[in-house]
Amino acid sequence: MINQSQPPARPHTTQLRLETVAVTAGRPDRVVDAPLNPPVVFASTYVGAHDTSAAKIGYGRYGNPTWQALETAIGALEGGRALAFASGMAAAHAVLELMPTGGVIVIPHTCYLGVAEAIDRRAVRYGWQVRRVNVGDSTEVLTAAEGADVVWIESPTNPTIEVADLLTLGENLSPSSLFVVDNTFATPLLQRPLESGANIVLHSATKLLSGHSDVLLGALVTSADDMQTFDALDAIRRSFGAAPGPMETYLALRGLRTLPLRLAQAQASAQVLAERLVTHKGVQRVRFPGLVSDPSHDVARRTMSGFGSLISIDLADATTADAFVDGCSLWVFATSLGGVESTLERRRRWKSELPWIPEGLVRLSVGIEHVEDLWSDLAQALDHL
Ligand code: PLP
Repeated sequence: MINQSQPPARPHTTQLRLETVAVTAGRPDRVVDAPLNPPVVFASTYVGAHDTSAAKIGYGRYGNPTWQALETAIGALEGGRALAFASGMAAAHAVLELMPTGGVIVIPHTCYLGVAEAIDRRAVRYGWQVRRVNVGDSTEVLTAAEGADVVWIESPTNPTIEVADLLTLGENLSPSSLFVVDNTFATPLLQRPLESGANIVLHSATKLLSGHSDVLLGALVTSADDMQTFDALDAIRRSFGAAPGPMETYLALRGLRTLPLRLAQAQASAQVLAERLVTHKGVQRVRFPGLVSDPSHDVARRTMSGFGSLISIDLADATTADAFVDGCSLWVFATSLGGVESTLERRRRWKSELPWIPEGLVRLSVGIEHVEDLWSDLAQALDHL
């Protein structure tokens, strides 16, 4: 007999595209009067069970239904199993906990400064050998990776927008090295590192995944059949209390629903802006993989399904770059990136930024405002230098 209170089940017969997965994954079961989207659940304490293995959550530091909805969605997008963390850095430290004392780690010559700093600090304490590589040079990475415990790749890199050939690295890295990819700048819509052989994908979900500059959040994704790595990272999250807040995961999932639209708009505008910036006499260099002249163009064409929404430009020096940033009124002078609002900053204003990043480098995070308004603002600031 048909249960009239339930809508008819309509099984999907085709593999959903990632744009659809972003909208649908992590929803509650479709039963009458269930909320369409997962509600936010605030709880530190859950009703107990004598047999603790029967408990699905157990305690607020171990799990939460709202985190789980976001994890389902990020896991589906990356093609693996996800764990949400309090921030991208909390997720990064969880991965670094897997490094053995006296081990060898390969890291990008340029990458997010917080990650570089964290690795350098731990290297001193735990006697690690740190090998820095240009991630755009696969031969250099593979040579450095010999005997490495962890190969940590960020691609595209922050803030130099260098792209790694994840396909070549995945094919040639030894399975004895843990292959970690920070996918913050690309998002799973543009590259899915697990498919290239990565063991762990890292996100600062603070950025494009959430997309509205109102959430601090991280995520790690392991391949679905690697329960050992997943369980190890889950245990570290529990033990360190690196748990995300329920409200943050709720907001992130809400933001994730529009990622395909936001990213499509932002990267189309980034392409237009990069092509115009290249022709401006005040700009010494533009890095954007969508430019045919960019050193990462060919690799990005082969390994990514889009060029992203981050651009870096080199201006003459720190003073010129600061004047440029101050001369913009629509673009917001701010750190962080990946929001609906376009933001820019001179990275070396941070004393802790890597000393080989040029003083005049400005990183631009393209948002979803009208591209002509974005260009007018940049052009008038450049023309006034
Ligand atoms: N990875 C990259 C590429 C980043 O840009 C950042 C932050 O800017 C992080 C990791 C750290 O993430 P969070 O700020 O969410 O801790």
